[in-house]
Amino acid sequence: MKKITLIKGDGIGPEITDAVVKIIDAAGVKIDWDVQTAGADVIETEGSPLPDRVIESVKRNKIALKSPVTTPIGKGFRSVNVQLRKELDLYANLRPCYNLPNVKTRYDGVNIVVVRENTEDLYAGIERQVDENTAESIKIITRSASTRIAEFAFDYAVKNNRKEVCVVTKANICKLSDGLFLECAREVSKKYPQIKFREILVDNCCMQLVQNPNQFDVLLLPNLYGDIVSDLCAGLIGGLGIAQGANIGKDYAVFEPVHGSAPDIAGQDKANPTAMLMSAIEMLNYIGETEAASRIKKALFETLEAGVKTIDIGGKSTCSEFTNAIIARL
Ligand code: ATP
Repeated sequence: MKKITLIKGDGIGPEITDAVVKIIDAAGVKIDWDVQTAGADVIETEGSPLPDRVIESVKRNKIALKSPVTTPIGKGFRSVNVQLRKELDLYANLRPCYNLPNVKTRYDGVNIVVVRENTEDLYAGIERQVDENTAESIKIITRSASTRIAEFAFDYAVKNNRKEVCVVTKANICKLSDGLFLECAREVSKKYPQIKFREILVDNCCMQLVQNPNQFDVLLLPNLYGDIVSDLCAGLIGGLGIAQGANIGKDYAVFEPVHGSAPDIAGQDKANPTAMLMSAIEMLNYIGETEAASRIKKALFETLEAGVKTIDIGGKSTCSEFTNAIIARL
């Protein structure tokens, strides 16, 4: 039986995790979950929101399904998500964004994959207070990280029958840092003549995305622009409740929804488990359980088509009702 780390997190994390585990179980996939708690709830007992045992578990099992984990603000802890990505060298953040059935949005036919560099840029966390009135953040861009993320984007495009990779930067202003990211993408693109290559500035990209998103296929971005643009893309397809994600490295992969722990609705059976379920479906594909993955996706789509939806996407169902409706279709 396949052993996979299950990081339960906090806020709505435990509710949506339970929903997804039940659905995977109902689909007949046998997984030996190595359950690891993390986040605000374990700080008191273990002194950190991300105890070493969580990292060790992912290192042992190679794959994890993760629900959102809150990093307490102003208590001196590094972001759990940033730390996890760094320690496991999960350099690629992959966010496929496409319309789901019966989820009303401004545009139909959106089908964009955001590939975000996950390890450097302003997220390297190098900041200092120069004086009382001045603060400084350092943006790190390296040739090796930029090249490997560009290769990831082009390889993804080839494997998934995509036509174009569009690199997004602000290289006209950040001439050296974004300039290097762009140069690496250009260099890598030469090895993939079958994939079209396009360049765009991030401000124009945002405008184009809200005016005509269907022109985009695979987007390749440094960390900060990737963070912002992928939330914009989540908005295009119906919001955070349905936006899936994965963090992938050479040795490990962690699948997780894009959204945070949503403390405003935690414990009220209101959360939408779709984003977590879509992430889990990608995880099943990743481990070769493709048949079960497509059966679960079919049951999810049929449930949405039947009008069974959670409140965030215009329905009336609770998280448990929605989950049970999917299970009934399996
Ligand atoms: P973080 O900084 O951890 O990303 P955040 O506060 O920016 O957290 P979320 O926790 O993702 O963002 O919540 C943003 C809003 O979206 C909240 O109003 C929340 O209730 C809503 N939301 C997020 N995820 C879901 C979900 N799965 N189902 C329903 N609503 C959600």
